[in-house]
Amino acid sequence: MSASAPTSALVLFSGGQDSAVCLAWALQRYERVETLGFDYGQRHRVELEVRQAFLRRLPEVFPRAAGRLGDDHVLDLAVLGAISDTALTADAEIAMNASGLPNTFVPGRNLLFLTFAAAIAYRRGIKHVVTGVCETDYSGYPDCRDDTVKALQVAINLGMESRLVLETPLMWIDKAATWELAGHLGGASLVDLIVEDTHTCYLGDRSERHAWGYGCGTCPACELRAAGYRRWIEG
Ligand code: ZN
Repeated sequence: MSASAPTSALVLFSGGQDSAVCLAWALQRYERVETLGFDYGQRHRVELEVRQAFLRRLPEVFPRAAGRLGDDHVLDLAVLGAISDTALTADAEIAMNASGLPNTFVPGRNLLFLTFAAAIAYRRGIKHVVTGVCETDYSGYPDCRDDTVKALQVAINLGMESRLVLETPLMWIDKAATWELAGHLGGASLVDLIVEDTHTCYLGDRSERHAWGYGCGTCPACELRAAGYRRWIEG
C-alpha cells in the first residue's frame, strides 16, 4: 500500500453488541471503513434490521463516522441453513446445547464468514478485516479462538497471495470490558446507541428494554450481555 492511500478496514458487523464496538474501534483508527453483514436465514431477522438503524444513526452520535463510514455490504449465505443441525436432523427443534449455542449453529461458521470477508476486502482494496470474536466469553466457539484466527489469516494470505490483517480487538477482553471500551470510544451517546440499536438475544425478543438493551433476559446470550453490563456499571 502506498503512503498516500487511506488506511482502510472492513468490519464484520452483525448488528450485535460486539461487532458494534468493533465498528467504533475501526472508525477511530482507519480513514475508510466499510461494513459487512451476512444474511443466512437468521431466525431473528431483527438482527439485520437493527444493524441498519445502527448504521444510520451512528454518525449522529459518533462524529468520527462522518466521512469515514463507507459502503455496507450484506451477503446472502442462505446456504448455511442447509448445514445446520435443524436442517440435517428432520425432527430437531431449535434448542440450546450444553455450550449455550443454538443447534442452528453451523460448525466452522466463523471460518466461512472470515473467508468471505477476506474475499470482499481483497476486491475492495481493503487491508484490515475487523471481527468481534472473543476467547474470553465464547470458549465454546473454537473457530473464534485466537489460534484459529491467526491460522486462518495465514491460509487466506497464502491462498489469495495477499497481506490482509485479521484484527480482533475484543479477543482478550470480557463483556464488561467491551462496554467499557464503548464508553471510552464514544461516551454515553455511543453506549446508548448500542443499548438501543444492537441485538444479542438468541430468541430475537425485543419486547422488553432492559438497562443493557432488548432481549428475553434468560437465554445464554442475554445473560452474558446483562452480566457484563452489570459488572461494568458496578465497576
Ligand atoms: Zn435472550
